[in-house]
Amino acid sequence: MRKLKCGILGATGAVGQRFVQLLSEHSDFELTSLYASERSAGKKYGERNWMLEGDVPEEIRDVEVVTNTLDLDADIIFSALPGGLAKTLERKFAEKGYVVCSNTRDNRMENDVPLVISEVNPEHLEMVKDKRGFIVTNPNCSAIVMCMALKPLADFEIKAVNVTTLQAISGAGYPGVASLDILGNILPYIKGEEEKMESEPLKIFGKLNNGKIEKASFKMSASCTRVPVVEGHTISIQVKLGGSPTLEEIAEAYTSFEGMPQKLNLPSAPFPPVILKKEEDRPQPKRDLGDGMPVAVGRIRKDEVLGYKLFAVGSNTIRGAAGASILNAELLDALGYL
Ligand code: NAP
Repeated sequence: MRKLKCGILGATGAVGQRFVQLLSEHSDFELTSLYASERSAGKKYGERNWMLEGDVPEEIRDVEVVTNTLDLDADIIFSALPGGLAKTLERKFAEKGYVVCSNTRDNRMENDVPLVISEVNPEHLEMVKDKRGFIVTNPNCSAIVMCMALKPLADFEIKAVNVTTLQAISGAGYPGVASLDILGNILPYIKGEEEKMESEPLKIFGKLNNGKIEKASFKMSASCTRVPVVEGHTISIQVKLGGSPTLEEIAEAYTSFEGMPQKLNLPSAPFPPVILKKEEDRPQPKRDLGDGMPVAVGRIRKDEVLGYKLFAVGSNTIRGAAGASILNAELLDALGYL
């Protein structure tokens, strides 16, 4: 079977390493190029600090990291570059004809770039149909977890959403937040995060009309915090719906939900995509991340202010980043857009 060649930009960081880990075991993709900063360039990948469980995959250990080039031996490029740097660099790769699946914030809100969660708005990928080189982005890690939890409620018409996030420290990259700041503490501010949480969902739940996204109009409010959890973002969600479903109807919407990746049986698709936890003290990041791809929801209850409230939990580096991007690439491939 043909395998698509993949390169990773930002291959040595927290998300880059997740890409390496997931792609090294992938049935349809083959990892061929690793790109990072001048700090890593010229070194073997195995010489850089590996921060995930297990070891650097054997076949990647001796691959040399490159930088400052637009010539990568790859059909698809996954980007885990820092914000600020990706804007022009991803464009340059796309202009050269590469398909770029990006995690980075820089191009998410650009008019010609789809912002896609494969289970939530796969139809937005039509924007890149028949293009040769292009960028497809996935949202901010908390926005992915939140939108996966909101999607099964969309049939009841989302009117307003208020969220508080409890975000893991791996979401800040490596070395990230100083240990003395986060151990035994909560930080009630993550630069730029609330803005992303309030703007990206409106594009994701928007409608594609004549090649342009008409943004959704529901009200969105977010408060974002960093907590001393290594992996897995937790989100407290209050939601106002146009309809007035019973809690049983909402539970049914979650248990029956499946997206296009499940219908197409894509390699990274989780079954089910959203897991409904019934225990009164779940979902928890320590217990409910699964293999990193599903989102867990629970504690669904009535709310005096907005109508309904619940908790959602998901892996920030897998479902919130590398895994989401790989799932988008699998979907592009299955749709014949690669
Ligand atoms: P990180 O751990 O700081 O890694 C940054 C990566 O970018 C490293 O590989 C680094 O290479 C490389 N890099 C830095 N400057 C560069 C340059 N001038 N040229 C080329 N490469 C350069 O960050 P991260 O957490 O993996 O995040 C990567 C991106 O994903 C960010 O945009 C972030 O917002 C987004 N994101 C992160 C998460 C998460 O959970 N962490 C979730 C969703 C999205 P060196 O090692 O050589 O310096």
